[in-house]
Amino acid sequence: MLSMDKSKEIFITAKEYIPGGVNSPVRAFKAVGMDPLFIKKTKGSKIYDLDGNSFIDYVCSWGPLILGHAHPQVVQAICQAAELGTSYGAPCEGEVELARMICEAIPSIDKVRMVNSGTEATMSAVRLARAYTGRNAILKFAGCYHGHGDSFLIKAGSGLLTAGVPNSPGVPAAIAEQTLVANYNDIDSVTKIFAQAGSDIAAVIVEPVAGNMGLVLPEPGFLQALREITEQYGALMIFDEVISGFRFCYGGYQNILGITPDLTALGKIIGGGLPVGAYGGKREIMSMIAPEGDVYQAGTLSGNPLAMAAGIASLKLLQAKNFYSSLEITTSRLTNGLKTILADHGLNYQINQSGSLFCLFFTNVQVADYVAVLSCDTEKYAEFFRALLQKGIYFPPSQFELCFVSSAHLPQDIEKTLAEIDKVLDEIY
Ligand SMILES: *Cc1c(COP(=O)(O)O)cnc(C)c1O
Repeated sequence: MLSMDKSKEIFITAKEYIPGGVNSPVRAFKAVGMDPLFIKKTKGSKIYDLDGNSFIDYVCSWGPLILGHAHPQVVQAICQAAELGTSYGAPCEGEVELARMICEAIPSIDKVRMVNSGTEATMSAVRLARAYTGRNAILKFAGCYHGHGDSFLIKAGSGLLTAGVPNSPGVPAAIAEQTLVANYNDIDSVTKIFAQAGSDIAAVIVEPVAGNMGLVLPEPGFLQALREITEQYGALMIFDEVISGFRFCYGGYQNILGITPDLTALGKIIGGGLPVGAYGGKREIMSMIAPEGDVYQAGTLSGNPLAMAAGIASLKLLQAKNFYSSLEITTSRLTNGLKTILADHGLNYQINQSGSLFCLFFTNVQVADYVAVLSCDTEKYAEFFRALLQKGIYFPPSQFELCFVSSAHLPQDIEKTLAEIDKVLDEIY
C-alpha cells in the first residue's frame, strides 16, 4: 500500500478551515470512498503528492492542461509576465492578442470578452442572450454541466414542460422555473419543449461534446437540428466549449461540425492552467456588452496579464504541425489497448473516445445519453480507481468524469498504464 499519511493528516486540518476540506467538491474523492491526495508538484504527465508518491495523471486539472503539467514555455511566459506586474486593472496588449487569436481560430466569434472562469463565461453568455432576445427562459440538457451559476443547477422537473427544479438548495424556484431541461441526443425532447414554450426561450445552451457525464458524443444531425430549431424560434444557440474549445482542433468543436452558434463559452485550455474564461460570438450580439452597450459585466482580474501570457503561449504551442493528430494517436493507443485488456478479461465495458478525451464506463449499455450513463456501476468504478491509484495511475475520482490525455503523455506512460490496468483487473475479477 502506498503511504498517504501526509495527505491524510493535512486533510484533517483542511476540513477544519475549508468546507469539506476542498475548494471544488469532486476533489474530495467522496465518490471513490477515500481521502484526497494533496499535490506537491507536477511535471509533464506526472503529479507528485505530499508523501512522495508519483502518478501518471489522466485528470490534467480537468481539462486545461492539454500540454501537460508545467510546460516549460508556458511557465516561462508566466514568469516573464510576472516580472512586469501581476495585475494592472487597465488594458494590456496580452488581452488584445489572446482575443485576436480566439477570433481568428473560431469563425463564429467576432468579438470576445475575457472573464476568470468557465462559470462566469456561461453565466454572462446567458445574461447577454436574455438581453438580446428580450426573453427569460433557457433550455439545457440533462447531464450537461455549465458551471455553478444558479440557472444551471437545475434538474428536469416532472411537469409537462419539464420546467426545472433546483438541484442545489439556495437556488430560488423562480430562477429554476426559467430553465427547461431536455435530453441530450434526443431532438424530440427539444421539439416538444419549443412547441410549448418556444417564444419564451432566449437560448439553448449545450456542450457540443458532452464531457461532464463521462464522455457522450453528439449523434449525427443532433446539433444541426438544434441549430435549425433555435433559428426557427428566434432563440440563440450557445455552445459551451469550455472543455471542447481547442481540445479537438485549433478552434472549437464547432469548426469540426461546421455549425455556427450565436455565442460560445470558453475556458480551461485558453488559460493555459491559469483562471480564465471567455465568451464571444456575433458582433451584433457582443456589441450589447458594456461599455459598448448596456448589458453589464465586469471583472477586477479579467484579462489578467499572467493569465493572458499563459493562454497565448499555450495556443501558440497548439499550432504545431500534427499536434492534434499525434495526441489522438497516443490516446487511441491507450483506448485500443484497454479494449483488448477488457476483452481478455471477458468484460463488456464501454469506452467512448474522441480525440484526446475518453471515458471507461462500467456498463454493458452503449452510452449515448444520460440514462445510459446512470446505469454505470459506480461501486465497481470506485474499486477500480482505488486499485489503479495504488499502481501509480491517477484516473478521475468519479465515473462521471472523463479522462484527459496531454501531449506530455509519452508512449512509456501509455504502456505502463495498460500494464497496470491489466494487473488491476486481474485483482478485481
Ligand atoms: C469546467 C466547465 C465549466 C465551468 O468552468 P469553471 O472554470 O470550472 O467555472 C463550464 N462548462 C463546461 C462544459 C465545463 O466543462
